[in-house]
Amino acid sequence: MLEKQISEVQAAALVRIGAARSPEDLESVRVDVLGRKGALALISKEMGKLAPEERARTGKLLNQAKDDLESLILAAQNKFSAQTMAVRLDAEWIDVTLPAPGPRPGSLHPITQIQMEIEDLFVSLGFMVLDGPEVETEYHNFDALNIPPEHPARDAQDTFWLTDGNLLRTHTSPVQVRGMERFSPPLRMIAPGRAFRNESVDASHEHTFYQLEGMMIDRDVSVAHLLYFMKTLLAEIFRREVTVRLRPGFFPFVEPGFELDIQCVICGGAGCPVCKQSGWVELLPCGLVNPNVLRISGIDPEKWNGFAFGLGLTRLVMMRYGIDDIRLLQSGDLRFLQQF
Ligand SMILES: [Zn+2]
Repeated sequence: MLEKQISEVQAAALVRIGAARSPEDLESVRVDVLGRKGALALISKEMGKLAPEERARTGKLLNQAKDDLESLILAAQNKFSAQTMAVRLDAEWIDVTLPAPGPRPGSLHPITQIQMEIEDLFVSLGFMVLDGPEVETEYHNFDALNIPPEHPARDAQDTFWLTDGNLLRTHTSPVQVRGMERFSPPLRMIAPGRAFRNESVDASHEHTFYQLEGMMIDRDVSVAHLLYFMKTLLAEIFRREVTVRLRPGFFPFVEPGFELDIQCVICGGAGCPVCKQSGWVELLPCGLVNPNVLRISGIDPEKWNGFAFGLGLTRLVMMRYGIDDIRLLQSGDLRFLQQF
């Protein structure tokens, strides 16, 4: 009786194994037939009622059926694993002989880009590009620029002083002093670079910013020369003719000194939030070099004169690209930088 049940269970299991379409199908056959509460386990329980001789024969038959089914299920499972592996190998196939993709392409920081453009322009106009130390002496940063210790202009610039009496330059102007000391006129030079001020950082103030200052010393230099160079510079930067105006401004190293404004390039002078509805944007301080500054650096102001200007590269980049938070520029955030 039990022997018949065993062969029925075995036959039904064989049909299910043959029809299995997934490892899950096989697993459910295994649980139903070979599991602790499976069909064969139930039969095994019944065997206690058999006569010893019959029990031995049935037991042998039962074990044989278990072994056969187990190996059949295992074989079928192996077939599924091999198929799955074959599909994966096909999908994830890599040609290791291909050349490596290489590093992702980088790009220049927008400040570097604008600095290089302006350098190219001034080199084409006969200017030298000078570099100077970021840690400066008090003399080069202030005294030689006609800013003596008691001068109020020192208060306007919150300076990072070093314990040895030197400082982090508050502008790139000391490079011009070094240029005048080293080269004799006629002289045309620009000095791009980093400057530092002890500012509270917010959307429009940074402790580290980029400037570009320029100076031309020759005979009979006038405000007309200054205006010509500034208009050429701004037309290049904004890639169009710009309208400028000069207002009197005070800077110790120039006399007369000016604030140069440009007509707002966003609204064309009609008024908008960028120009605070005035139609004009204050862009750069400039003027004719103060004779004292020439004299301090050993140039005879009776024979030579010149103009000087300062340009905020950081400010310029923000205007060109409409960047409204200065902190983004120094953040090192790739999502920001990859746009340029
Ligand atoms: Zn405007």
